[in-house]
Amino acid sequence: MDVLVFIGLTIALVLGLIGFFGRCRACGSWAHAFNPGHTADIPDGKAYIVCKRCGDRQHKGEVSSDGSVVWMSGGSGQFHEDGSYTGDSGTFADGGGDGGGAGGE
Ligand SMILES: [Zn+2]
Repeated sequence: MDVLVFIGLTIALVLGLIGFFGRCRACGSWAHAFNPGHTADIPDGKAYIVCKRCGDRQHKGEVSSDGSVVWMSGGSGQFHEDGSYTGDSGTFADGGGDGGGAGGE
């Protein structure tokens, strides 16, 4: 078997699964799975994943008054006063870091 073909098929399969399960429920955009937007309603304590294509918001996490957010999918992140966001995406796409590692406990 050609190893490169195998790797290519594996990557295609993984990306397909990510896109399938992470696609926007409103407009069906698969790009939403790979490049979601984030917003938070801090007074309400709710964090949302936002579709950059159609603007659909899904309540996907809890945000505290200081802007730190814990996503239902297991990731975490931080909203800043200017509305920017850093941290895990909270989707299947964030296979890289695992929330910065919870040292200590
Ligand atoms: Zn959408």
